[in-house]
Amino acid sequence: MRMAKITLSNLAHAYHPNPASEDDYALKQTSHVWEDGKAYALLGPSGCGKTTLLNIISGLITPSQGRVFFDDDDVTSIPTAQRNIAQVFQFPVVYDTMTVRENLAFALRNRGMDKAGISRRVDIIAVMLGLEETLDCKARALSADAKQKISLGRGLVREDVNAILFDEPLTVIDPAMKLELRIQLKSLHNELGHTMIYVTHDQTEALSFADEVVVMDKGRVLQTGTPEALFEAPAHTFVGHFIGSPGMNVLDVTVDGSRAYLDGNLIKLGHHYGTPAGKVQIGIRPEHISLNATNGLPAQILRVEDVGRHKIVRAQAMGQTLNLIASNQTTINTGMASLGFERGKISVFVDGWRFSPSHGQEGAM
Ligand code: ATP
Repeated sequence: MRMAKITLSNLAHAYHPNPASEDDYALKQTSHVWEDGKAYALLGPSGCGKTTLLNIISGLITPSQGRVFFDDDDVTSIPTAQRNIAQVFQFPVVYDTMTVRENLAFALRNRGMDKAGISRRVDIIAVMLGLEETLDCKARALSADAKQKISLGRGLVREDVNAILFDEPLTVIDPAMKLELRIQLKSLHNELGHTMIYVTHDQTEALSFADEVVVMDKGRVLQTGTPEALFEAPAHTFVGHFIGSPGMNVLDVTVDGSRAYLDGNLIKLGHHYGTPAGKVQIGIRPEHISLNATNGLPAQILRVEDVGRHKIVRAQAMGQTLNLIASNQTTINTGMASLGFERGKISVFVDGWRFSPSHGQEGAM
């Protein structure tokens, strides 16, 4: 089976013919190596440049700067058709007058695969996607969900592709079926082993599908990491806030060594940070804040929302709002509380970017 390592080297793209400043770039300069056989998700809000980056990889866009390599081959100016990739788009791309079987077989037949080989491969993919019952139905008779499954199947059927690119492939899928298809796609990746790149603005899709998630905002790749790394050690406040439900709390503070001060209130940190200059903030996830701590941060509880599995509490401390998660057994009254931060779970950010503890000072008081 074929697949490729994808190298992005000093890549940037402006739709503007004469970009004057960084703001004119839909994709700001980025370099990265995506390993072969891994599943990646490009995640970020609308307009952050995900599709631009995907289209550069597929060859629909030639970047204004930088190179793209599939293994050692420079494919920057090679057209899409010659890149040997499969693509699945937001909306189904199927031949309505063909049967499901013919749709799935199409790309294999075009490449001259023998009949027995085609039949074997089509059967495997049909079973994986739950299309085996409808193989001999005309595509036009099927629901939008089923058509998108055919589209996915058409993308997955070839074994000899360098990579499979998905652009928001579950948009038209019924919410109840999204979870099922997400799980199927993940297990398809494990079974087929292709390099896969999946564009989405939905963190649940990204985190459940990908080995590594590439988080983007305003044309910039902010972090590429495992779901765990994005959760535990976000490289930027945007990543902290964007990942998680609710996202990380980011509070304006001053830091001196292993102490942060929020309007004069001490918050002890798990590490020693020196005296960073610039816009200094700490990040703490709602999961890592407790109510009723001894000598905690005085806060006003504004609202309590029961979401079934747990409660989401919105509080305000020194004019800054924050969320915390409490067990749904806890009785919470609005009014004053004393918030405790799990010190080992506090991140420090300077000018938006993660700030590392001073070397050798871990756990210092
Ligand atoms: P969405 O989720 O809404 O598709 P995205 O993250 O995929 O968003 P892109 O489509 O890559 O974002 O767009 C990035 C930026 O480039 C946006 O500001 C968009 O308006 C701009 N842009 C995209 N395509 C073009 C184009 N053909 N010409 C000019 N500007 C474009």
